[in-house]
Amino acid sequence: MKKIILLITLLIANALYAQEQNESYTVEFAEKYHNKESVLPTDRNVFRAFEVWKQYVLTQNDSLLLSSHHNSAYKKEINHQLFLIWVPKNWMHFQIIGHERKENDFLIHTLVYQLIPNDSAITIYSQFKVWAIRQNNSYKLKFLYEDNVTNFKNIKTKWINYYYNPKSHYFSKFMASKANSFCDSVINKFQLPQKKQINYFIHSTPQQAYEFFGHTHYWNSPAIILDNYNDIHIETDSEFYAHELVHYLFRNYRPSVVFWEGFASWVSGKANYFISLKEEVDYLKSFPEYKDIEIMELMLNGKFNKNPMCYYPIGGILMKKAYQIGGVSLVKSILSTPQEADPVEVIREKFGFRTREESLKFVIQLIESYK
Ligand SMILES: [Zn+2]
Repeated sequence: MKKIILLITLLIANALYAQEQNESYTVEFAEKYHNKESVLPTDRNVFRAFEVWKQYVLTQNDSLLLSSHHNSAYKKEINHQLFLIWVPKNWMHFQIIGHERKENDFLIHTLVYQLIPNDSAITIYSQFKVWAIRQNNSYKLKFLYEDNVTNFKNIKTKWINYYYNPKSHYFSKFMASKANSFCDSVINKFQLPQKKQINYFIHSTPQQAYEFFGHTHYWNSPAIILDNYNDIHIETDSEFYAHELVHYLFRNYRPSVVFWEGFASWVSGKANYFISLKEEVDYLKSFPEYKDIEIMELMLNGKFNKNPMCYYPIGGILMKKAYQIGGVSLVKSILSTPQEADPVEVIREKFGFRTREESLKFVIQLIESYK
């Protein structure tokens, strides 16, 4: 009897396996994408490894990299919102397109792409690689950053815990001390309680930063990846990126983006690593439409399509003014407003205006008189 049950089980398993062989291995079924590579149909272990990876991807809430069961010190890294910031998961498709074998382990290649609705166009974001490591009779996932981080050198300074690749980066003690002095001055000026050091990863190029996490293709990237404000990943080969340090130091606040980005731009003097607040203001002024209160309302909400990033300079000017009028307490009170709050209402309330119109005129006047 036992033998018969075993035989039946084997038959069923084989039937299922045969069915698997006919599938092009799609994690999220997307018939519009026809992959050229396909899985070797003779290797059952490949399917086992794929199955583990498929389960992982399908159980993510937000993005491919949003959670993990790893307990390592770098667990946070997996929370890195590499996809989420740009594209919500329900827009994304994942398809396994191939693998490499190294002894018993497999390096799985997954295509991360988007299909534009009602259109056959495919936007490929990345080819993501992950290891499936053979353990007993199953597979355990190992992300590339877990290996990559072990090749990084670690230098602890007063506020910043630096990680960098000694093969591609020469550590500048001078820039590190400038960064620490900057943190000192911001912490003192705004009376911030600080206990924790900042984990700060230096990558030489955006490409290197993406490769660190296992991506081989990458899309047009900004100069920075900020990991959920736990760790900072800098893509500019620099120990001192003031704007992102400000974000980090204020990570417990999360106001509307106009105040959030404006504040970091004002305190650091820069909208990002490359562009100063002054340059951003000059650019904003090249759109005289800002003098129209309706356009200003769009601008404050990031909905002015001709210059969608104009909330950086506007927020910068506003936060500077808040500090001049009400010091640290007014600045913190604006930063403490919720992210969803209407920026015009926040300005009306915090700067003490009666109407929305008065508030918008105030912002326009601030920009006009900015030097
Ligand atoms: Zn920013």
